[in-house]
Amino acid sequence: MSHRRVGQAIAAGLVAAAAGALAWGWRRHGRGGGGAAGVEERTCECGQAFRVVGSGRHRVHWTAGAARDEAVLDGRCPACDRPLPS
Ligand SMILES: [Zn+2]
Repeated sequence: MSHRRVGQAIAAGLVAAAAGALAWGWRRHGRGGGGAAGVEERTCECGQAFRVVGSGRHRVHWTAGAARDEAVLDGRCPACDRPLPS
């Protein structure tokens, strides 16, 4: 792969990331079954719904309807204090 091709690949990745961010507001249901990108929906055992983005150490949870800067930072459901599913 030439340097130009590498640059194009990186640019394409950035565009995809930006598109994913833009999709945040309206894409309510992630695709199940293993895509690392995009937004997933999870539901705690207590019924609290979450949006989940990323995977592994980069996974971030929000409660449904929370603002983007209101991520769940302590890894526990704010409704019932159970550890969040990972
Ligand atoms: Zn809960």
